[in-house]
Amino acid sequence: MKIETKKTNPPVKQVGSGRISPNKNRIRTYKQPDTKTSVKKTFPESKAKVIPKAINSENIRIITLGGVEEVGKNMTVIEYKDDILVFDCGIQFVDEDTPGIDFIIPNTKYLEENKDRIKAMIITHGHLDHIAAIPYIIHKIGNPPIYAGNIASLLIKKRMTEFPHLPEIDIKIVKPKEKFRLGNLGVKFFEVTHSIPDSMGISVETPYGNIVLSGDYKLEHVDEIPTEKEKENWGEIGKDNNLLFISDSTNAEKKGFSVSEKYIRGNIEEIIKNINGRIIVGAFASQFNRMIAIIEMAEKYNKKVILEGRSIKTNLEIAMRAGIFEPKKGTLIQAKDISAYPSDKILVLATGAQGEEFAALMRMSTKKHKYISLNNRDTVVLSSSIVPGNEISVQKLMDNLYRHDLKVIHYQISDIHSGGHGREGELKWAAKMVNAKYFMPAYGWHSMLKVHAEAIKSIGVKDKDIVIPDNGSIVEISDKGKKIQIIKEKAPSNITMVDGFSIGDIQEVVIRDRQNLAQDGIFVVIATIDTNTGKLRKSPDIISRGFIYLRESKDLLKQARYITKKTVETTIKGMKPINFDLVKKEVTDNISRYLFQTTKKKPIVIPVILGV
Ligand SMILES: [Zn+2]
Repeated sequence: MKIETKKTNPPVKQVGSGRISPNKNRIRTYKQPDTKTSVKKTFPESKAKVIPKAINSENIRIITLGGVEEVGKNMTVIEYKDDILVFDCGIQFVDEDTPGIDFIIPNTKYLEENKDRIKAMIITHGHLDHIAAIPYIIHKIGNPPIYAGNIASLLIKKRMTEFPHLPEIDIKIVKPKEKFRLGNLGVKFFEVTHSIPDSMGISVETPYGNIVLSGDYKLEHVDEIPTEKEKENWGEIGKDNNLLFISDSTNAEKKGFSVSEKYIRGNIEEIIKNINGRIIVGAFASQFNRMIAIIEMAEKYNKKVILEGRSIKTNLEIAMRAGIFEPKKGTLIQAKDISAYPSDKILVLATGAQGEEFAALMRMSTKKHKYISLNNRDTVVLSSSIVPGNEISVQKLMDNLYRHDLKVIHYQISDIHSGGHGREGELKWAAKMVNAKYFMPAYGWHSMLKVHAEAIKSIGVKDKDIVIPDNGSIVEISDKGKKIQIIKEKAPSNITMVDGFSIGDIQEVVIRDRQNLAQDGIFVVIATIDTNTGKLRKSPDIISRGFIYLRESKDLLKQARYITKKTVETTIKGMKPINFDLVKKEVTDNISRYLFQTTKKKPIVIPVILGV
């Protein structure tokens, strides 16, 4: 939920002049909007972070570089003696706190400092929150070999083609049940159920027992009884002497078991079978398995399929290349040929169920699609949930769809979507199967981790045996496995942003300016000083955007001109030569204060002071 906030903070002093003439007293801390107070967000604080020394002892370290204070940018590190293994390398999509930023990636400073010891990067599955930061990170940490399942490796290679200037990466494809050693550690892969094929959990063998990383997972089950296959996969891992279980928390706040994918598919099949007229299905492209299932159903009921949206096309291509699915000849048709087929033979599979502005579904709904125009005989099936934060855009999409008087079926009306993450009941079942001494919830916001930990306590794991990390936390297992704790030192965890081609953690000023610009606009004051007389040549000019409507604010303008004139003339009185930086600073301070007092807004004030 988003809450509209009225800002009541005093004006930030350095704004505007700080950028034109660097001011030593500039406030460097990022000011956080007062929304979302429930969540701690670590924006850049100080740069002088102490990077903890590499360990020399017999202790094992688990370092969470991302993914435990958000859903996204997953990265977990396991370190023992001279060996470091890195698990996953994802991105997090951004929100209104970081306008104009493409996305956020894990902070890998710790790994960069210790790159000589990195033996491998290991990928659990091919979703963007687990792989998409690879091009930005892999070379900075010494380009270690990447171990990934088939689909994940194809998706990584595809992503690397967008960065042709980067050196080659070394990908090795692994399968479930495969095991090998990497330095002092052993790794073993096992199959888990998720919404994309080739999803795996990993068991890491250490001298004190195994550390089991779940990756993203749910369970296939019938009436909350996991299938034989689940029992076999997890049971096999449970046979080991397990020290620590690191488990997916994304859906921990939901009780019971997730709705089984089989049941969902049954419902979608009923719709495809019974609906007359065209069917337009909006789905997540990341839900590989469902996308394939829908195409197979269309084939079963003799329908042609139109794929709309780049990510859906790409992912189907990857599935075909991986050899897991091949549509029958003639099933796929082009959108431009839609009118050549009777409408009850058409199924459109489209991206944009989250109401994304330029995605296929939205373009159809707003009559901007080149070939597909909706009508009242169509049925739109939204086989996806609403990702938190997208409520308004999904609502707009729904309204636009309903304007065509067509039929909309969504997940609140009918069970046609289930996420890829297990709920409380599934998480407890998996933890029991793994039966590890210690437990660490991962992948999710802090609240999800806490709720997950409570659930695990209810099955008998003691409080002292559970650790709940933040980004950058260093978990240490000491005394030959007898003790687990989060140590005082932290790995650097301030946010690393990707903004176009630049990557970095020093953009807090840029972000704050963008927020100010977006919220309160810009106010430019131009004044020309006659250096002989020390007076202004004429009344100052004022340009403003996104702040207030100037034509209706004559008094404010008059007052701002007066303040500028007075500030300039008082500041430079007796000053020779004129210190323009000081004049600009004074004008910024006085104008900012005045504008805030009168309007309660903090536009970025830029003084342009010229001397003639
Ligand atoms: Zn996933």
